Amino acid sequence: MTFVITEACIDVKDLSCIEVCPVDCIHTDDDDRMCYIDPDECIDCTVCVEACPVAAIYPDKETPADMQAYLAINQRWFEDKDAARNMVQEVRGPS
Ligand code: SF4
Ligand code: SF4
Repeated sequence: MTFVITEACIDVKDLSCIEVCPVDCIHTDDDDRMCYIDPDECIDCTVCVEACPVAAIYPDKETPADMQAYLAINQRWFEDKDAARNMVQEVRGPS
């Protein structure tokens, strides 16, 4: 299991989760509208879930049905950042 960040992070991105993650596995670049969790590095500690002010973070297997797209977006970001950014635009619309 790992954790996934979903739509509520978009254009909020206050970075609280990055500050508390003990293994520094939450990533973002200036061009991103949200953050992403590296599933290979996440240790499932749940600390980020408590820290997020907008409740954007879920265990991947408990991701709500209307947030399932973010599982693929998260995975894509670690392969091709621009492709993931385009997916966010498609799901959420322009900023
Ligand atoms: S569950 Fe823990 S290790 Fe995983 S992203 Fe959140 S804070 Fe980091
Ligand atoms: S704490 Fe929540 S809103 Fe803030 S960057 Fe992390 S996932 Fe996004």
